[in-house]
Amino acid sequence: MIENITCTGCPMGCRLSVEVKETENGPEILDITGYECNRGRSYAQDEVIRPRRMITTLIRTGRGKRPLSVRSSEAIPKDLIFPALEQIHAISIDLPVSSGDAIIANILDTGADIIATCDLELR
Ligand code: SF4
Repeated sequence: MIENITCTGCPMGCRLSVEVKETENGPEILDITGYECNRGRSYAQDEVIRPRRMITTLIRTGRGKRPLSVRSSEAIPKDLIFPALEQIHAISIDLPVSSGDAIIANILDTGADIIATCDLELR
Protein backbone atom coordinates (compact mmCIF):
# COMPACT_ATOMS: atom_id res chain seq x y z
CA MET A 1 0.00 0.00 0.00
CA ILE A 2 1.22 3.52 -0.82
CA GLU A 3 0.35 6.42 1.51
CA ASN A 4 0.73 9.94 0.12
CA ILE A 5 1.26 12.64 2.72
CA THR A 6 2.43 16.24 2.73
CA CYS A 7 5.40 17.08 4.93
CA THR A 8 4.64 19.95 7.33
CA GLY A 9 8.28 20.41 8.33
CA CYS A 10 8.70 23.64 6.35
CA PRO A 11 6.82 25.79 3.80
CA MET A 12 8.07 23.68 0.86
CA GLY A 13 5.42 21.09 1.71
CA CYS A 14 7.09 18.16 -0.05
CA ARG A 15 4.73 15.42 -1.23
CA LEU A 16 5.92 12.17 0.33
CA SER A 17 5.06 8.65 -0.79
CA VAL A 18 5.37 5.94 1.82
CA GLU A 19 5.19 2.27 0.88
CA VAL A 20 3.70 0.43 3.83
CA LYS A 21 3.12 -3.23 4.54
CA GLU A 22 0.63 -4.21 7.24
CA THR A 23 2.04 -6.88 9.54
CA GLU A 24 0.69 -8.56 12.66
CA ASN A 25 2.89 -6.17 14.67
CA GLY A 26 1.53 -3.07 12.91
CA PRO A 27 2.58 -1.12 9.83
CA GLU A 28 6.08 -1.65 8.45
CA ILE A 29 7.66 0.97 6.19
CA LEU A 30 9.28 -0.44 3.07
CA ASP A 31 10.25 2.78 1.27
CA ILE A 32 9.87 6.55 1.49
CA THR A 33 10.31 8.89 -1.48
CA GLY A 34 9.75 12.59 -2.19
CA TYR A 35 11.55 14.14 0.77
CA GLU A 36 14.16 16.85 0.34
CA CYS A 37 15.75 16.48 3.78
CA ASN A 38 15.87 14.05 6.70
CA ARG A 39 13.17 15.94 8.61
CA GLY A 40 10.75 14.82 5.92
CA ARG A 41 11.86 11.22 6.23
CA SER A 42 11.36 11.32 10.02
CA TYR A 43 7.99 13.02 9.59
CA ALA A 44 6.84 10.29 7.19
CA GLN A 45 7.93 7.56 9.61
CA ASP A 46 6.13 9.21 12.55
CA GLU A 47 3.02 9.93 10.49
CA VAL A 48 2.64 6.30 9.42
CA ILE A 49 3.75 4.52 12.61
CA ARG A 50 2.31 6.83 15.29
CA PRO A 51 1.03 10.23 14.13
CA ARG A 52 1.12 13.10 16.61
CA ARG A 53 -0.76 16.40 16.74
CA MET A 54 -0.72 19.58 18.79
CA ILE A 55 -3.84 20.38 20.84
CA THR A 56 -5.32 23.88 20.98
CA THR A 57 -8.59 24.42 22.79
CA LEU A 58 -10.39 26.47 25.44
CA ILE A 59 -10.74 25.64 29.12
CA ARG A 60 -13.47 26.88 31.45
CA THR A 61 -12.65 29.37 34.16
CA GLY A 62 -14.49 29.85 37.43
CA ARG A 63 -17.81 31.64 37.84
CA GLY A 64 -18.68 32.19 34.21
CA LYS A 65 -15.62 34.23 33.27
CA ARG A 66 -14.41 34.00 29.71
CA PRO A 67 -12.60 30.75 28.79
CA LEU A 68 -8.83 30.47 28.71
CA SER A 69 -7.00 29.52 25.52
CA VAL A 70 -4.60 26.59 26.05
CA ARG A 71 -2.33 24.40 23.93
CA SER A 72 -0.16 21.36 24.39
CA SER A 73 3.53 22.02 24.97
CA GLU A 74 4.31 19.43 22.28
CA ALA A 75 2.46 17.15 19.91
CA ILE A 76 0.73 14.14 21.46
CA PRO A 77 -0.25 10.83 19.82
CA LYS A 78 -3.25 11.39 17.56
CA ASP A 79 -5.19 8.53 19.17
CA LEU A 80 -5.02 10.33 22.53
CA ILE A 81 -6.43 13.66 21.33
CA PHE A 82 -10.08 12.98 22.20
CA PRO A 83 -9.29 11.49 25.65
CA ALA A 84 -7.06 14.51 26.32
CA LEU A 85 -9.81 16.95 25.23
CA GLU A 86 -12.27 15.15 27.54
CA GLN A 87 -9.88 15.63 30.46
CA ILE A 88 -9.29 19.30 29.60
CA HIS A 89 -12.99 20.08 29.17
CA ALA A 90 -13.93 18.33 32.42
CA ILE A 91 -12.21 20.90 34.61
CA SER A 92 -12.57 24.57 35.43
CA ILE A 93 -9.63 26.65 36.62
CA ASP A 94 -9.27 29.60 38.96
CA LEU A 95 -7.87 32.93 37.80
CA PRO A 96 -5.50 34.70 37.49
CA VAL A 97 -3.43 32.73 35.00
CA SER A 98 -0.28 33.82 33.18
CA SER A 99 0.78 32.85 29.69
CA GLY A 100 2.92 29.71 29.87
CA ASP A 101 1.43 28.43 33.14
CA ALA A 102 1.02 24.64 33.14
CA ILE A 103 -2.69 23.96 33.62
CA ILE A 104 -2.36 20.14 33.37
CA ALA A 105 1.08 18.55 33.70
CA ASN A 106 1.99 15.46 31.68
CA ILE A 107 -1.48 14.91 30.29
CA LEU A 108 -2.29 11.19 29.90
CA ASP A 109 1.39 10.38 30.55
CA THR A 110 2.34 11.78 27.13
CA GLY A 111 5.07 14.02 28.50
CA ALA A 112 3.18 17.07 27.20
CA ASP A 113 1.78 19.77 29.46
CA ILE A 114 -1.36 21.77 28.73
CA ILE A 115 -0.30 25.40 29.01
CA ALA A 116 -2.02 28.77 28.98
CA THR A 117 -1.45 30.82 25.82
CA CYS A 118 -2.34 34.19 27.35
CA ASP A 119 -2.70 36.11 30.60
CA LEU A 120 -6.19 36.10 32.07
CA GLU A 121 -6.97 38.28 35.07
CA LEU A 122 -9.63 37.90 37.73
CA ARG A 123 -12.28 40.59 37.11
S1 SF4 B 1 11.05 17.15 3.43
FE1 SF4 B 1 12.36 18.77 4.27
S2 SF4 B 1 12.29 20.35 2.68
FE2 SF4 B 1 10.54 19.00 2.28
S3 SF4 B 1 8.82 19.96 3.39
FE3 SF4 B 1 9.74 18.44 4.76
S4 SF4 B 1 11.18 19.65 6.01
FE4 SF4 B 1 10.70 20.85 4.18
